[in-house]
Amino acid sequence: MSLKKQILSYIQLNQDAGVNLMFFDEKIEKKLKRKKEIFLQPQSESNKIEKIKPLDSLNIKETDSIINDLQNTSSKLVVNSMELYKFEGITDLILLNKHISNCQNCILGTTRTNLVFGEGNPNADIMVIGEAPGADEDEQGLPFVGRAGKLLTDILKAINLSRNEVYIANICKCRPPGNRKPLIDEIDRCEKFLHKQIEFIQPQFIIALGLTAAEALFKQSYKMGDIRGKLLEYRGIKTMITYHPAALLRNPNWKRPVWDDMKLLRNMYDEYLLDK
Ligand code: SF4
Repeated sequence: MSLKKQILSYIQLNQDAGVNLMFFDEKIEKKLKRKKEIFLQPQSESNKIEKIKPLDSLNIKETDSIINDLQNTSSKLVVNSMELYKFEGITDLILLNKHISNCQNCILGTTRTNLVFGEGNPNADIMVIGEAPGADEDEQGLPFVGRAGKLLTDILKAINLSRNEVYIANICKCRPPGNRKPLIDEIDRCEKFLHKQIEFIQPQFIIALGLTAAEALFKQSYKMGDIRGKLLEYRGIKTMITYHPAALLRNPNWKRPVWDDMKLLRNMYDEYLLDK
């Protein structure tokens, strides 16, 4: 799909969600010719302008006017997304990481600092799956390294697991601007890479952190209260859904249910190890 079409689809998705103003950092035609500098950002309370660069060249435009400009531009840029979905010769995580390292298959590729592939034991029994990188992760290219990441490390430690024993990845590999949730279109374009990671790692257990991760995996809407504390099956893998550590930072009352969920997972894992 051409970059122009990707941007149009991104803006239209945002319009459907009620967004009618976006930041746009310079003239569209110029940006389309230098795709790395394209910067689009829905305007909302949670997306503070100070977090967005470059500030001095930022414009706010109506989405209808951006669409109009885009439709009149003559950009011929093409993002070769089909190549990214061919996995011939990609036989392990290292090759997969290399294969997608310059991915521009969704709009997040144009705004990230670093793609966050994932890290941990490539033969892990337990895989931890979050939503998408945040600011710290984007900066360092590593998953769960900010405050929520430290809490995840502590949660794992509480059930005698270290980060090196598990594999940690996200549904989307690039940071959504302003830490918004990834859009369905972005999840759809990125999830094949996660599927491949799961295929290589072949974990016995998955911990899905937060509803966005759970809904992206299972393709249905949930309420956390209805699904946490149970083991579901995702592609034949026992999967525990629990609160995202970032949610625990906002609401410490959820630490108790997470502790209960993690104890249940540890018990199931111990049973698996005994039978192994
Ligand atoms: S989020 Fe995924 S699909 Fe989008 S650019 Fe990053 S790696 Fe590619």
